[in-house]
Amino acid sequence: MIDLRSDTVTRPGDAMRAAAADADVGDDVYGEDPTVNELERRAADVVGAEAALYVPTGTMGNQIAARVHTDRGQEALVERQSHVYKYELGGFAQHSDLQVRTYNGGANGAPTPEHVQSGFVEEDLHRAGTGLLCLENTHNVKGGVPVPADEVAAAAQAAHDLGVPVHVDGARVFNAATALDVDPADLLAPVDSVMFCLSKGLGAPVGSMLAGDAEFVGAARRIRKLLGGGMRQAGIIAAPGLEALENRDRLHVDHENATRLAEGLDALEGLSVAEPETNIVLVDTAASGSTADELLERCEREGVTGSRFGEYTVRFCTHLDVDASDVDDAVAAVERAL
Ligand SMILES: *Cc1c(COP(=O)(O)O)cnc(C)c1O
Repeated sequence: MIDLRSDTVTRPGDAMRAAAADADVGDDVYGEDPTVNELERRAADVVGAEAALYVPTGTMGNQIAARVHTDRGQEALVERQSHVYKYELGGFAQHSDLQVRTYNGGANGAPTPEHVQSGFVEEDLHRAGTGLLCLENTHNVKGGVPVPADEVAAAAQAAHDLGVPVHVDGARVFNAATALDVDPADLLAPVDSVMFCLSKGLGAPVGSMLAGDAEFVGAARRIRKLLGGGMRQAGIIAAPGLEALENRDRLHVDHENATRLAEGLDALEGLSVAEPETNIVLVDTAASGSTADELLERCEREGVTGSRFGEYTVRFCTHLDVDASDVDDAVAAVERAL
């Protein structure tokens, strides 16, 4: 089976398994796990932050960020199709007592300064006030679209002018930096915090990082404990995370494979595929007469899996465990399924 449902499906290879087996460990709740400490230092360096925190999942990282940046009852300004809004179980309300207000980002999901200004609510006797702006880079639902540095900076500037901190859901921020050919530290310099996933394109079995200034990360560490995310000899899972950071340099391969996949699928009668910028391929099945569910069911019988992203939209994701020949096999399987 060629599994293109997500870039989370990768299995750790020999180097990651060896790193886990050999990891130096201690109790991380006491701050004594040398492997976790090293991962947090390296992760902070990579994104140009003062500090970073190892968290079990990206969702927990985003939720902690919202909690640390805001006061109870405030508003968070989030994109209408963003992960924090659509796929985190309304966690901003559940964990941080936030009300969300959405903006409708354009093709890449980024807010313009006007979106920020018009979505901003000033605190007064009647209104809660805006406590946070969230960006997503790359934007998953829009098709893994990277948000360029100038747009990140303009949105962050608009928020900061209003006294609002900015968090980036950067689950795939290294895919963005790769596609944009920028240093992730430069891309993220204008914002206050970022979450990125080790467990997606980077290929680690577990874990995400939440980075920001030292004060933010200190507060985040307490909220992580509150949510039950204080882990003990976590070096066992952090060690593959250190290996995963090395996979930043190969993300361009996933992007090339995504382009190859998109071209192959777009040439098939009944499918329409936009050119991907990173590792996510969105396929419009409408002209084939099949819904996403119908096509996916037949694809699975032919040996390839994807995700339903809308009634007539299928998402295929390239990753560490698929190469160009798998992509060619996947195209042939989809053709048979059609
Ligand atoms: C996967 C993902 C997350 C959450 O990561 P988990 O580790 O699955 O909780 C957050 N944001 C985006 C954009 C994602 O794609």
